[in-house]
Amino acid sequence: SKAQLIDGKDQINVTFDDVAGLDEAKEEVMEVVDFLKNPEKYKKLGAKIPKGVLLTGPPGTGKTLMAKAMAGEAGVPFFSISGSDFVEMFVGVGAARVRDLFKNGREKAPCIIFIDEIEAIGRSRSMSKTQTNDERENTLNQLLVEMDGFSSDKTVIILAATNRPDLLDSALLRPGRFDRQILIDKPDLNGREEIFKVHLKKLTLGTDVDAKKLALQTPGFAGAEIANVCNEAALHAARKKKEQVEMEDFNSAIDRVVGGLEKKNKLISPRE
Ligand code: ATP
Repeated sequence: SKAQLIDGKDQINVTFDDVAGLDEAKEEVMEVVDFLKNPEKYKKLGAKIPKGVLLTGPPGTGKTLMAKAMAGEAGVPFFSISGSDFVEMFVGVGAARVRDLFKNGREKAPCIIFIDEIEAIGRSRSMSKTQTNDERENTLNQLLVEMDGFSSDKTVIILAATNRPDLLDSALLRPGRFDRQILIDKPDLNGREEIFKVHLKKLTLGTDVDAKKLALQTPGFAGAEIANVCNEAALHAARKKKEQVEMEDFNSAIDRVVGGLEKKNKLISPRE
C-alpha cells in the first residue's frame, strides 16, 4: 500500500550519534544538513542548493541509517521509497507513485526524499539485457522529470542509495540530478569498535564484554552484521537463561553470523 512506501514522518529520531564511524561521510553530509536547516543563507548568496546526493557503498554499511540521521539532524520530514518496490509493477503504477512521492515532498519542504536501491529503477537503459522493461523505464523517466521539475525555492533534497553505482543510467548522474556521491564504506577496526559501542549500549552486559576485542574478531563485518551479532548474542544469553550478555554469547553469535555469511557467499560466488 501507499502508506508503506511513503511515510513522510515528521519526527525522525535518528541522529548522527546513532551512526558510528563514517566520520568523513558525516562531514560531507553535514553541509547538506545545513542546506536543509538554513536554505535562506544559501539563497542570499546566490548559491544553488544541490538536489540529489547518491550514497554508495556495500550492503549493510548504514546508508539508510545515514539518510534518516540527516533528516533527524535537520529536523525535516523523511519520505522513503525503495527501488525494489517497483519491480513487477503494473503499467503506470511506478510513475504515479514517483509523482505522489514528489508531490508530498514539495508540500512538506524542506524535506528529504530517500530512494533506496535506486539501481532497481535507475539501471542504465542501454545495459538492461532483458526484454525492455517499459514500466521500469517509465518510472525512471518520471523520476528524471520530477528532479528537473521543482524550482530551487523548494528545498527538497533527494537522497538515493545503491551498492552498484556502476549500473546507474548516466542520465541520473548529470548536473542538477545526483551530482554528488558520498561513499558509505565498510568500517575498519576502529569503526567496528564504534559500531559495537552503539549497539552494546542497548544490552545488559557482563563485565567481560569488550568492544575492542569484538572488533578484532569481526574483520570484514559491516554495521548491519555487527548489529545482528549483538542481537544474536542477547538471544543466546536468553536461551541460556542468563541475566547478562557475556563474551561467550558474543563468540557464539559471531560464529553464527560468519556461518550465515559463508553460506550466502557460496550461493553468490558461482555467478560473480
Ligand atoms: P543496504 O544497502 O543493505 O540497504 P544500508 O547500507 O542501507 O544497507 P542500513 O539499512 O542503514 O544499511 O543498516 C542496517 C542496520 O545496521 C542499521 O539499522 C543499524 O542498526 C546497523 N548499522 C549499519 N551501519 C551502521 C553504523 N555505521 N553505525 C551503527 N549502526 C549501523
